[in-house]
Amino acid sequence: MNIALVGIGKIAVDQHVPSINASNDWTLAATVSRSGTVDGVPAFTDFDQMLTERSDISVVSLCLPPVPRYDYAAKAIAAGRHVMLEKPPGATLAEVQALEAMARDAGVTLFATWHSRMAKGVAPAKAWLADKQITAAHICWKEDVRRWHPGQQWVFEPGGMGVFDPGSNALSIMTEILPQPVHLRQAELLFPSNCDTPIAAQLTWTGNVTGDFDWRQEDPQSWDITVETDAGTLALHDGGARLLINDEEVEAGSDREYPALYDRMAELVETGKSDVDLSPMIHVADALTLGKRVTVEAFHF
Ligand code: NAP
Repeated sequence: MNIALVGIGKIAVDQHVPSINASNDWTLAATVSRSGTVDGVPAFTDFDQMLTERSDISVVSLCLPPVPRYDYAAKAIAAGRHVMLEKPPGATLAEVQALEAMARDAGVTLFATWHSRMAKGVAPAKAWLADKQITAAHICWKEDVRRWHPGQQWVFEPGGMGVFDPGSNALSIMTEILPQPVHLRQAELLFPSNCDTPIAAQLTWTGNVTGDFDWRQEDPQSWDITVETDAGTLALHDGGARLLINDEEVEAGSDREYPALYDRMAELVETGKSDVDLSPMIHVADALTLGKRVTVEAFHF
């Protein structure tokens, strides 16, 4: 199938382009970006023009930041295209629900991707936890915003979600692997004095589940989730790529998060289905609703 990539920035170049090029299901037939391009691929700067001129392109993958993404998704669905959304799927919950309804009415696929759920340790972790009693869990998600979002001012603007941009990766894993849902009880959010979104957060959910998110960690980067159960401890490291059960490494094959997303999109289009799970984003919205705001020193890239 022909696919168009929209928003040729960091994640499009790092992950989407190589994953599409390596897949037998997809041909990268066009890009749409105000300045970004991909060598050898027809480049548009105007989305409407691409939709009008390229009726051979049935699928659009949106790699834009969350705030501008809705308008592009709505146009693509109205033009009868199947749509893939980067995570987090939108700037608000209601706009993603609106897109879901539009896609249903138009008979097209909408896939709200959560790449971290495709990390190789996640499915075996979910399977092992399915019949366990969970006594506690902890998320430690600490990385360097300057390394992963160099100069991207949008992450600190309204709708950019701040530390919950990477934090939603942890929440996508948490909501996937825990056998029972949890809900937020308390949150403390650290806002730099010059930013509209938090740079760090501590969260406490029901069921002894806690989370520590920080974007100010220069080295090493920590993307860990530990779950205590009646049968011992499960630990996911490296964003879900490494799984240890009771300190024993579990081998789970090769890591292919983004290629797996494109495999799943091909399957959804073929079977006429959509996949939109908002549960990770509900926890972000709850944290921003319930959280105590603490002002910390100004942040500059
Ligand atoms: P980015 O590089 O800042 O943005 C991607 C591209 O979107 C930009 O190059 C820009 O292209 C276009 N764009 C930005 N603002 C726009 C606007 N207001 N209107 C229209 N186009 C706009 O961001 P990114 O890091 O690739 O992240 C994009 C999404 O991927 C986010 O939701 C993020 O959470 C997710 N993601 C990022 C990473 C990562 O490591 N950075 C990892 C996984 C997922 P033009 O200027 O050429 O139009």
